[in-house]
Amino acid sequence: EASAKAAAASADSGGPTIFDKIIAKEIPSSIVYEDEKVLAFRDINPQAPVHVLVIPKFRNGLTQLSKAEPKHTEILGHLLHAAKVVAEKEGIMDRFRVVINNGPGACQSVYHLHLHVLGGRQMKWPPG
Ligand code: ADP
Repeated sequence: EASAKAAAASADSGGPTIFDKIIAKEIPSSIVYEDEKVLAFRDINPQAPVHVLVIPKFRNGLTQLSKAEPKHTEILGHLLHAAKVVAEKEGIMDRFRVVINNGPGACQSVYHLHLHVLGGRQMKWPPG
């Protein structure tokens, strides 16, 4: 069945992802914010006028949020703070959303933890 295949194909393999190449700047991205620990760049398939992904530069086992352990708490906080900095830089501080898709059932397709920062339009609820 097609959706089962799609889900299986997008499960966490623990292998490298396209984000490794973005971090290494082997493939181009439109960078919005960067520091020693995180990179924020525009989503190639934006779902809102502002759609930025915030990722850790060192995945360290964080393929998805469900793999988080106590050793990850510092980077998790750093990512969330970077999401706020992105919203500030993009001028969407009064209306933005931060999303983490976890696993095939939540449509996660890239297994390198990432926060979606979405805004610049009226956001609807529930997100679906
Ligand atoms: P989904 O693909 O369902 O949104 P994810 O939460 O895993 O699932 O999000 C991965 C995101 O990465 C997608 O929004 C996709 O558009 C984005 N993406 C994939 N490749 C690139 C790329 N080369 N540059 C920027 N964004 C990318």
